[in-house]
Amino acid sequence: MLDRRSNRWFVDNTLHEIRRGYRDIAVVYPTEETVCTECGGQEEFTQSAFDAFCTTCNGTGYTFTWATVLISGRIQHYDFVKLSQAGLPPGIEIGDAVIYVSVAAKEAIEEVRGSPYGYVYIDGQTYRPWSIEPTGVMYADDWRVELKRSEVKAHASGY
Ligand SMILES: [Zn+2]
Repeated sequence: MLDRRSNRWFVDNTLHEIRRGYRDIAVVYPTEETVCTECGGQEEFTQSAFDAFCTTCNGTGYTFTWATVLISGRIQHYDFVKLSQAGLPPGIEIGDAVIYVSVAAKEAIEEVRGSPYGYVYIDGQTYRPWSIEPTGVMYADDWRVELKRSEVKAHASGY
């Protein structure tokens, strides 16, 4: 059995290792969608703007009021060398990532998933959440979110 001191060292060291992997993540989703007055909004069947090149709405048909939630989480990019040996899981592509986040952050990410225009922004890349699962470990970062790298048409300013 570990004595108190070495156990303490182990805990501190582990926490340090985990914090070092923390990154700033912006969770961005619209709180309000307004039909674009410039191009007349969205065509019902194609779900894209009447004018795909409209500069006011970037071809989405809407202008947005954005909520930006800044969170901190661990990011893990898929290791494709390891994965290809084990067989690549279906749906995973290069550039996809996994983040480990708190419950509060997970709730913001659910807002992103609830909107086709929401996205997660990390280091200049935009992602859409693919799955949100509990890690099953009682910890600060107890939600595992799989992200797929995706281009988005409409960006909140700065993200
Ligand atoms: Zn427009």
